[in-house]
Amino acid sequence: MVRLVITGTPGVGKTTVAMELSKTYNAPVVDINEIIRPVLKWDPELQTNFVINEVKARELISENLGGVGSYIIDTIAINLIDKSLIDWCIVLRLDPRQVMNRLLRRNWPRCKIIENVLAEVVGSSLSLAIDVFGRDRVIEVDTTNKGIHEVVNHIVNRLTVGLPIIGIVDWLDKLDTDLVLSLSKELDECLTQ
Ligand code: ADP
Ligand code: MG
Repeated sequence: MVRLVITGTPGVGKTTVAMELSKTYNAPVVDINEIIRPVLKWDPELQTNFVINEVKARELISENLGGVGSYIIDTIAINLIDKSLIDWCIVLRLDPRQVMNRLLRRNWPRCKIIENVLAEVVGSSLSLAIDVFGRDRVIEVDTTNKGIHEVVNHIVNRLTVGLPIIGIVDWLDKLDTDLVLSLSKELDECLTQ
């Protein structure tokens, strides 16, 4: 039995990795958005879904997943998943400059892109994963310059070893200070619009 959640900033490769792991473990990819559809609302301005009733969302997820054997969940909204439903939370990381490049290919508002790139810079998804599942259930993976099969093999090996790993990247240390400052300035402008 394998019960995984794959998380990380948009563009890091969650969906791609989840599909591959699904083949490897012969486990279905569960679409959380489908499960919580009744409590999702689309915000056309921010171009994002938001949850209108978190308690109900958690209930729906637990009802749908309780009793199912293996599954792979691909989501950013890990705060909606009960800890008891997950064996391992895989947090994919990617150099923020590459996150930026991938998100620029999506037709997203500039502010949404900047917000997500900065989220990757500071490691929001990792912090949330540790908060929700605890340090002993989190496996952080740096996908930078790794092909999809390399990423998947790495995850499979880690899962076989069965040990958590966090704290493997420090983008703030790696990035040019000027770049981080200009992104922060842009975010400030977004927030005051
Ligand atoms: P997410 O689900 O996290 O938003 P996706 O799986 O949709 O990310 O991947 C975003 C883009 O990056 C896609 O075009 C995908 O083909 C590409 N991609 C994903 N993983 C890799 C990788 N390891 N190397 C190169 N490109 C990748
Ligand atoms: Mg995706």
